[in-house]
Amino acid sequence: MKLRLYNSLTHQKDIFTPRQKNKVSLYTCGPTVYNYAHLGNLRTYIFEDVLRRVLIVNGYEVDQVMNITDVGHLTDDGDSGEDKMEKGARREGKTAQEIASFYTQAFLDDALALNIVLPKKMPHAADKKYIEAQINLIKTLEQKGYTYQTSDGVYFDSTKFKDYGKMAQLDIANLQEGARVSKNKEKHHPTDFALWKFSPQDKKRQMEWQSPWGIGFPGWHIECSAMAIKELGKTIDIHCGGIDHLPVHHTNEIAQSEAATGKQFSRFFLHAEHLLINEGRMGKSEGNFLTLQSLKDKKFDPLTYRYFVLGAHYRSKLNFSWEALKNSQQAYDKLISNLAGWETPTMENQDYDERFLAAVNDDLNMPKALAIFWDIVKTNLTSAQKMAQVFAMDKIFGLSLQEKSQQLKTKIGQAQEEIRALLQERETARQMKNFQRADEIRFQIEKRGLLVEDTKEGSLLKIKD
Ligand SMILES: [Zn+2]
Repeated sequence: MKLRLYNSLTHQKDIFTPRQKNKVSLYTCGPTVYNYAHLGNLRTYIFEDVLRRVLIVNGYEVDQVMNITDVGHLTDDGDSGEDKMEKGARREGKTAQEIASFYTQAFLDDALALNIVLPKKMPHAADKKYIEAQINLIKTLEQKGYTYQTSDGVYFDSTKFKDYGKMAQLDIANLQEGARVSKNKEKHHPTDFALWKFSPQDKKRQMEWQSPWGIGFPGWHIECSAMAIKELGKTIDIHCGGIDHLPVHHTNEIAQSEAATGKQFSRFFLHAEHLLINEGRMGKSEGNFLTLQSLKDKKFDPLTYRYFVLGAHYRSKLNFSWEALKNSQQAYDKLISNLAGWETPTMENQDYDERFLAAVNDDLNMPKALAIFWDIVKTNLTSAQKMAQVFAMDKIFGLSLQEKSQQLKTKIGQAQEEIRALLQERETARQMKNFQRADEIRFQIEKRGLLVEDTKEGSLLKIKD
């Protein structure tokens, strides 16, 4: 079955096949590790994880890279403002390195809790090896005449790249200075962007390196191009990120990569839409960001959030509310409780239901796939037959259905064991005419939702209404 993905480059669903027969190169923009990821960020990583799973189900091997931004991402996209890492360090009275390692770990923990399988390759921008790669890429751009220098850095001249802004359909002619919040008067055009920034003369930065142009640090966009090219080659199959990456970050990545290599940078660009909260955008700068910890604090299972995210198409805006999350929690709990009552699957490998695969391969239509999934959960097939299908589908959803339902089953089993032991103890107490102890045990059993009825043949258990 053909896999169709909405490609931001062509503005339509295109049939996807990788350049190499069975292997997909995938680059996903990673976190800037100066704070916790908010739920909107996590929505994008869940989407990318689902994409990876869908590619695997389609028989591809996935070679994925996700960068960790630990230098150079400024507080605004217009090449002004403060380095987010240094800002984070000041906020917490720690070094930039300490901030980076703390929030990298926090990100890894979130991913684990959400069943996001992260790639083996997660390069850090501030690693010496990648600083070198970034400097080399800037050198190439300089040799090819795409750069100019100002008092605060080396810039990419966006007017020299013919198709600048094509993917984002930017109206360059009418793009006013200010639309990109540029306070930098030395920039030749509002869409030009920093490749290398000089360290300020008056204060010492925590992270800075020597370069042919002077001591400083790389711009944010250059890291993704340098890492993608270094790890995956000049042309990659799929590049992903959040929709907010499209107009600036990915637009600049394309310009500098293609200017340097003369090759198409990525054949597909996929973008996940925003998560809204109270109909507004969730973001760190908006000051309304919720983290996975905020959900855990309210006793939500992190996978409930994953279930909630799967309920909307990745290209639709999704509005977060506690009410909606609660509904997801109920649906998820109901699912697990259903599955815990089922028998073990009869077969190991189950072919996918055609409709399910069609939905999944139609630009990852998860809401439809979930609906088909629930249809199957409710059919009259034997539970053993259904179970095999459900577990197969969960390879895409990633909701830990097998593990969770097994856990619940074991718990119910343990409760039964416990009650049986209590009953036996009570029987002994009765035989020894220790009625006080027998009554205590009866009370303990009642607390577990069961009634004890004494008969001539011994004690019976009944469900307490
Ligand atoms: Zn990026």
